[in-house]
Parts: sequence; structure tokens; C-alpha cells
Amino acid sequence: MYIVQIASECAPVIKAGGLGDGVYGLNRELETRGNTVELVLPMYDCMRYDHIWGIHTAYQDLWVPWYDGAIHCTVYCGWVHGLLCFFVEPHSQDSFFHRGKVYGDSDDNMRFAFFSKAALEFLQQSGKKPDVIHCHDWQTGLIPVLLHEVYQHHGMAYQRVCYTIHNFKHQGIVGAEMLAATGLNNTEYYFDYSRLQDNFNPFALNFMKAGIVYSNYVTTVSPHHAWEARFTEIGYGLGNTLELHQGKFSGVLNGIDYTVWNPAGDHYISDPYDAKNLEGKAKNKKALRDRLLMQEADKAIVAFIGRLDEQKGVHLVHHAIHHSLYKDAQFVLLGSATEASINDDFWREKQYLNDNPDCHLELGFDEELSHLIYAGADMIIVPSNYEPCGLTQMIGMRYGTVPIVRGVGGLVSTVFDWDYDPDHPVEERNGFVFYQTDFRALESAMERAIDLWKFAPEKFEALAIQGMNCDYSWKQSAETYSNI
Ligand code: ADP
Repeated sequence: MYIVQIASECAPVIKAGGLGDGVYGLNRELETRGNTVELVLPMYDCMRYDHIWGIHTAYQDLWVPWYDGAIHCTVYCGWVHGLLCFFVEPHSQDSFFHRGKVYGDSDDNMRFAFFSKAALEFLQQSGKKPDVIHCHDWQTGLIPVLLHEVYQHHGMAYQRVCYTIHNFKHQGIVGAEMLAATGLNNTEYYFDYSRLQDNFNPFALNFMKAGIVYSNYVTTVSPHHAWEARFTEIGYGLGNTLELHQGKFSGVLNGIDYTVWNPAGDHYISDPYDAKNLEGKAKNKKALRDRLLMQEADKAIVAFIGRLDEQKGVHLVHHAIHHSLYKDAQFVLLGSATEASINDDFWREKQYLNDNPDCHLELGFDEELSHLIYAGADMIIVPSNYEPCGLTQMIGMRYGTVPIVRGVGGLVSTVFDWDYDPDHPVEERNGFVFYQTDFRALESAMERAIDLWKFAPEKFEALAIQGMNCDYSWKQSAETYSNI
């Protein structure tokens, strides 16, 4: 198949979270299986250009209709660790992708509406005719609409669209100006419950709903989350739309890229290791302590890596720090917050704990350091309020770092409790699970984990190895996507 992926992130060049990892990992696997894969991405000023090889101009003068005029764009082309990527750069006063950040501006909706339009213009003008266009999250929800309503009449009649939702919370809500800008116009037609109209605000249009309605197939990133999205409040108002389109909707578990996340060949860690010999892991624990100026002691290290966001259960993250210290363990946090109040809270916490030799809070985004934490920590905590798939628990397991997770979304599909899991025998279990959002629930799972580490180290190691032996690579999921 000839597959074009259109997305707002692709690791490691543009990564704000799991979307970037997902786009990269899935495509590497699809390509390995013999498909032709190309990616279309925005050309941000803040990308990791050091991860793009051979960047050059691919299409000099791409004129993209926008409102009553057109915006001049240049499309660049380069390889991101072997993946062929096209980067769209608009030359306009809006500076759509020259903001020093990927998301977080008040005109984000229009920035990505423009990107969606530009990506299709690029395919059409350059004569590319993929079998499948695969797009992701709200940023590209307009692609199937534009394809069906406009571009199919301009030479793109046979392209089929798969739309993958990585997070239902952010849906892209816009007003009628988007229709004028993209040339869809026809306000009455699109402000219709069966099309783009938001399910709750009749005066708004919803990009994600558009993606669901107009795509040939819709996925989300784990089977359990597909159920949650349809039947619980986690669908953020799109449950009914999914219900109406249930015949083309399912959950496909994300994988992780086993070449990027590989303790036996990871350049960012101090010593390689694998499931047969965990000696290297102990050395990484020491390297992590040295790097973060933490004391050397006979203590477990509990880690958290992730966005500091309501979704991630920040109240439990705060509590996990203090409960680890109370249980005589150490704690390492790597996270960044976009919301000012959450950011302030963690900075205060960091100052408060600054002199504590058993704790380190690193506030910011640091890909390299994340590898060393996965390798050096003993446990990784994921106390999310909701979690469509979750990668940190899978990466943790790959590095022999035992996950302690809340039983929601993809965490349910990947982590099986050491002490009790009706569906998995003891030799298949790989972590600790709790279900409620109160402190006591978290504490009880943490206590079980830390006590096992302390009082039955050989059993803890067996558990870590069972996690390392789980296969959370893209193999199975890429097969499912190929079938779709
Ligand atoms: P989400 O997509 O909701 O952010 P996931 O668990 O699906 O969460 O993916 C998170 C990915 O981002 C993982 O690869 C994780 O290692 C990485 N990550 C998150 N925060 C940071 C950070 N502050 N520094 C480095 N990597 C991070």
C-alpha cells in the first residue's frame, strides 16, 4: 500500500507526547512490512532539526487558497531516522508554525485548519495518489471533510481515510470563520448535527467530530479506551457520534518502537542490559543518582515521566512523591506543565524538596534524560485520571521498571496486577494496579510494590523480567492497521 500520514507531531523531531511516538513507531513498522509510507507535517521553527537528514526543497511554490486569497508555502523534504517526511512551511504574516512552541496559542484551530488544507493541496498539486491517508487527532480532523467535499472532485476520488484519535479531550472547536477560510463555505450544510456541528454548542463546529463522521475508519489507541469513549464521560461528548458510527470504530493498542526503546542498545543510558542480565540496570541506577545528585542508598527509586496535566492525575503525582519518601524510597520526576497553576505548584514543590537527597524534580521536556530514568528507576508510576493508551508503562516494562498504574484505558490492556488478576496467571503479571483516585488507593499499590522490592527482591526481579518479556512492539498493532 501507499500510505500518507498527516499529523501535527512525529517523534523525535516534533514530540509533545504520545502522539509523536505513535506516528513514528507505527510508520516505521508499516514501512518494514513493505508499504510505501510518507509523512506530511508542519514545518515548526522549534523542531529538532538535528534529527532530520538531507532536508531540501521538494515543492517551491505551493499556493494554498485561504479566505479570498492564497498563502504561498514551500514544502521541504527530509528523512527522520529513515522515514520520508514532507514539511509544509507557509510564508504569511500569521507565522502559523513560527511560534517557538507546537501548541498553546489562541488561534491553534485556524493554524491546523490551514495545515490540513495545505497538506491536501500539496498531495493534489504534486500528483500524489496514496491508497490510504491516515490522520491523527483534532488537528487533522478536517482532512476527510476536505477530501470528501472538495478534493475528490479534483482528482482525489479513490483515497480512503483512517482517522486515529489519541486523546478525546482536545477536539478543536471553531466558529463559522473556518468555513470561510478553508473554502468549505456553506454554513447551513456544515452546521448540522449529522456533520460538523458540535454536539453541545450549536454555534460551533468540531474538528474531531468531523474526522469521525467523514473518515472511512476511525480508531482510538486501545480497545478498553474505545469502550470508555463510547460509554463513559471520557468520550468528552462524542459518545453519541461514536455510537452512530460504531460500525467503523475500534480500538487498536499503540505499540512502542523497540529500536528506540531498547535497553540493550540505548545510547542515552550508561550501561546496556537485557532480561537475561540485569546488572547493567543497577549501573544505570547509580548513573541516574549521580546525574541528579541524589544519594547512593539501599532504596528503591520510583519515577514519574509525563505531561503534568489534570489527565495525568497530578494530585496523585504530588502524593506519590511524599509517600515514596515516607516509605523510605527515592523519587524522580520528569514532567512539564502547560497550565500555569499546575506549573507553579510543581515549582513550589521542587523548591521545598530542593535539599532532599532522595528526591529530584526535573521540570521541562528532556528526551535523553527520560531514557536514563526508564533505565535507572525501579518503578514507574502512572496514576492517570484517564489514559487512552499510555506509553510510559510500556516503556518502563521494556526497561525492567515495574509499572504502578491506575486501572483505566490502555493501562488496563497492558498492566496486570502481581497480586490479583483474574485473567492472567502469575507468570504473566507485570505490575501493580489500583482503581480509585483517592490517596489510600495509590498508597496501597505503592506499598505492595515497595515492600516486594524491599522484602522479596528475587520476586521483584522476576516481576520486572516478566514485564520485559511482554511484547508491546508495533508488530501486532501494525498488522491490525494493515487489515483496517
Ligand atoms: P501523552 O500522549 O498523554 O502525553 P503517553 O504516555 O502516551 O502520554 O506518551 C508520553 C510520551 O512522552 C512518552 O514517550 C514519554 O517518555 C514522553 N514524555 C512525556 N513527558 C516528557 C518529558 N517531560 N520529557 C521527556 N519525555 C517526556
